[in-house]
Amino acid sequence: MKARATLACLAADAARWSTVHLLHRGGGNIPGAVALRLDPSVISELGAGLRGSVMVTGTNGKTTTTGLLADALAAGGAHVVCNRAGNNMESGIAAALVMSRGQHAELGCFECDELYTVRVMPRLRPHALVLLNLFRDQLDRYGEIDHTQDVIADALGRSPETALVYNADDPLCAAIAARVENPSLPFGIDEPTNLEADRISDSRFCAKCNAPLDYEYVHYGQLGKYRCPECGWERPDLAFAAVNVRLTCGGFEFDVEDRRGEKNGEPPVRHHVRTRYNGLYMVYNVMAALAGCLAAGGSAERFQEVLDAYEPASGRGKTFALDGGFEVVSMLAKNPTGFNRMVQQVRTEGGSCLALFLNDNDADGHDVSWIWDIDLERLHDLPDLRLICVGGTRREDMAVRVKYAELPARLELIEGVEDALRIMSDGAVGRKLHVVANYTAFPPVVAELGRLSASWEAPAEKGAEAFRGTFESPRLEGETEEQWWGRTSGQGDLGLDRPLRIVHLYPDALNLYGDGGNIASLTKRCKWRGIPCRVDQVLMGQNLDLSDADVVLLGGGSDRDQLAVAEELRDQADKLAAYVADGGALLAICGGYQLLGRYYMMGEKRVEGLHVLDIETTAGSTRLIGNVAVDSPVCGAPIVGFENHAGRTVLLGSEKPLGRAIVHGSGNNGEDGGEGVLHGNLIGTYLHGPILPKNPGVTDWLITQALHRRGVDAKLAPLPDDLETLAHDVALKIAERDRR
Ligand code: GLN
Repeated sequence: MKARATLACLAADAARWSTVHLLHRGGGNIPGAVALRLDPSVISELGAGLRGSVMVTGTNGKTTTTGLLADALAAGGAHVVCNRAGNNMESGIAAALVMSRGQHAELGCFECDELYTVRVMPRLRPHALVLLNLFRDQLDRYGEIDHTQDVIADALGRSPETALVYNADDPLCAAIAARVENPSLPFGIDEPTNLEADRISDSRFCAKCNAPLDYEYVHYGQLGKYRCPECGWERPDLAFAAVNVRLTCGGFEFDVEDRRGEKNGEPPVRHHVRTRYNGLYMVYNVMAALAGCLAAGGSAERFQEVLDAYEPASGRGKTFALDGGFEVVSMLAKNPTGFNRMVQQVRTEGGSCLALFLNDNDADGHDVSWIWDIDLERLHDLPDLRLICVGGTRREDMAVRVKYAELPARLELIEGVEDALRIMSDGAVGRKLHVVANYTAFPPVVAELGRLSASWEAPAEKGAEAFRGTFESPRLEGETEEQWWGRTSGQGDLGLDRPLRIVHLYPDALNLYGDGGNIASLTKRCKWRGIPCRVDQVLMGQNLDLSDADVVLLGGGSDRDQLAVAEELRDQADKLAAYVADGGALLAICGGYQLLGRYYMMGEKRVEGLHVLDIETTAGSTRLIGNVAVDSPVCGAPIVGFENHAGRTVLLGSEKPLGRAIVHGSGNNGEDGGEGVLHGNLIGTYLHGPILPKNPGVTDWLITQALHRRGVDAKLAPLPDDLETLAHDVALKIAERDRR
């Protein structure tokens, strides 16, 4: 080792000693950061001492797959160095290497954050990179998924001998494989699993020609067997394929077929795998670990043994047994796809009590709009669902999300798990609690559960406070059920000859930031007042008919999605223009807002707009990201939301902004203080969050305009918006805090 690297390692040792002994904290990233500071090439220096290494990246499942893979490699007798605790940035990997000195490590197995692959791979030159999946996640940190793809492709290009072991069921991963020259080994599930598809998918379009993909089957998210009807691009042939996937009482069982020899006429080699997990995502994680192990020259012989012995890291998916027969299952979910897997698990287990913890710290992402992309409504089929508690720094947002799912359960705001257990005892509603928490919310939950399993005494069950069905009813305080119906049916009798028609344009393409929440807000607020309404989705390729539309919604999307929609609407712009000119109510968010203008410049590429608005947008080299609050004539309270866009929009002619930024936020272009556009009954805005559930005043404005256009001049009945107001005020406070 060079003198500089030796020095860096010694300094890292000292840093580790001080953090552990003086600050009483785990070593974590600090020793690695110190070592990198003194010698930026410390990863390559120390990595060169290994016989080889494997890296694991992707949105979901990194820590589990890395741990399993490290165990599988170690089962072959090698000493493996691994960053098991999930410190997955450059410094975490450097720290693991520094600390393994003198331990005769032979192989490296490293979890790596997607955006750090490009910094680590060229230095480590791993044998293989296991790429698990790419889902929307912390978009305020990662930007759009296209950017993550670019980074990983770049990383692979700088380490050309690294084999890419990737999830071919994910078109976003396959698109990377198609772009790079690296040897590649696709894995996937080679049969339908007949799961209900998620509402949101992160990829609908062909990586080659941007046409919508056809699926033979979908497992979840965008994972499945796909083909482009236009250019024929399709899921690559699998080198590792899961087949005979069965859910038994104990968990998923399946065979992994190693088909690498097929091109030489050899039959596939079959490895039967039994898991203790009942989430399909674990089939992918387990298969990825096995494929990674085999690709790195390891053996499958002891894989089952390794899997049986494997304990997920840091209390994930663990069941804690507490006093009084209470049981708590701890689940980690950081993004919609991960959360949907947990929802699925709760359904499989017939859950009755849930506690959802949502934080918005740096490591979680400050933008919590993703909770509106979770399919929480699927919990409706749980016959015993009684209680949903919400905690964490953004519990009010989660409470609003739960409220609009109208689940037949009591909803409570809590501080910690113990509160949930106490409410369960009070109501005698069951003894099993499923806790789902996001990134920084999870460790405190596990710590509390550790404490509770040692010292908690279950209170006597009261059963007095029997929970009624839908707790969050739309009634005003003190109002009886009859009074509420009396009042709302009065509202309902508006003399409408047909329900309000809400048209949701292209939810299959423009859905990046919880746009479904805007639909939920519109429909539920109509329903709670007894105003009949219906939602028609117009999907890509379907006929666009706005003749009797009352509210139109266009969501946000990544550049790629926007491009596809611009293409789709090219010859239909006049329909939208006529609707808007006729006073039709329309809400256009981010990407949808940009599309309504004259053009959107994506670098050199000019995407022709629909010319409904006199605005122009040009993508900048940085993204404008953060919490925002604006003052607007549309409603009394400031409109709060989150923005995340590269586009800078300029209003021309007589166009007026929706509002003026009162705290923080860049708005249209970061320069003139204006946010969005208010053009007749059209609102264009960069605010998502999504905007409507958190700003019920804006929803009610849209409904009022729509009714007015239908000849009804009604004043909307007030609704009990306590939760919405709480969530709104939290968002406003955060926007104010961000400004300081
Ligand atoms: N892709 C567009 C941009 O980055 C719109 C993003 C969005 O919908 N938030 O500007």
